[in-house]
Amino acid sequence: MDSLEISPHIYSIPAQPAFYTGPQAPNVFLVHDGGEGALVDSGFGDEKSVRVRLDFLKEHAGIKVRYILLTHHHFDHTSGAQQLRKATGARVVLHAGEERFLLDSKSEAPQDLEATAEENKQVAEAIQRFRDQAAEATPDLRVSDGEEFTVGSLTVRVVHTPGHTLGSVCFYMPGEKALFTGDTALGLGTVAISPPPYGDMGLYLESLARLKTYDCALMLPGHGQNVHDVPSKLQELIDHRHEREAQILKLMADGKRTPKAMLSAIYMELDKRIVPMALRQIEAHLAKLEAEGRVARAGDEWVLPG
Ligand SMILES: [Zn+2]
Ligand SMILES: [Zn+2]
Repeated sequence: MDSLEISPHIYSIPAQPAFYTGPQAPNVFLVHDGGEGALVDSGFGDEKSVRVRLDFLKEHAGIKVRYILLTHHHFDHTSGAQQLRKATGARVVLHAGEERFLLDSKSEAPQDLEATAEENKQVAEAIQRFRDQAAEATPDLRVSDGEEFTVGSLTVRVVHTPGHTLGSVCFYMPGEKALFTGDTALGLGTVAISPPPYGDMGLYLESLARLKTYDCALMLPGHGQNVHDVPSKLQELIDHRHEREAQILKLMADGKRTPKAMLSAIYMELDKRIVPMALRQIEAHLAKLEAEGRVARAGDEWVLPG
């Protein structure tokens, strides 16, 4: 696959998907100016994916990669980071709140891709390998909202956008009016939001609303196509969540009291592999509604108060 010059200061470095499940292959970008560069996410750590990215950097030897900016801990974005760091001497950057999830390769925290119980050992082993690789990418710099990096004459600002994970960040380049959104906003489809303690639907909606206030002409997501009409895209994602929330409240009024019962009413047919993810989405909505006092738990069931 050929790299893509998105703007005079931004390349995309695509690789074939290293894994058959999941929405699309993760995007990896290189921001550069004046002989300096920063990668946004690392992609997968399998040999082929890493090779493609290293070959690209070799062809652009005039760019010294100073940072590997990770949008969040999920292994489709981070498992290549240690190998890329070794090859380039770049420093790995991660939000402080993500570190413990990145380093704990046995963590219960949901990932973007998971093996279901029925899937074969090979898949589970491949996932564990990616998790182990991700755990090697110990951050050199732990960042928080508002911190800035310079790449040549460019500024890259950390925007903390909790929701998909609690330490998810976007990277904003004011000079380019460009926003790297990781899995907070995708180019295609909607992203999985887990219920607390791993994600937070209420915070997610606040994060999307905050991103809408940025002067932004180009959104570069963690998966899928680049987006040019950024405010509309963000509004579409916000609307989708509000619609789903309304749908859940309606289903509850109709007597559906568990995420499972709601799931089969929302989706006619669902790939088995994404059932756990879809259930967590519903739980994430319910947790938000619970925090707002609009639904309540009753044992394993959920009820409307009053
Ligand atoms: Zn992802
Ligand atoms: Zn993710």
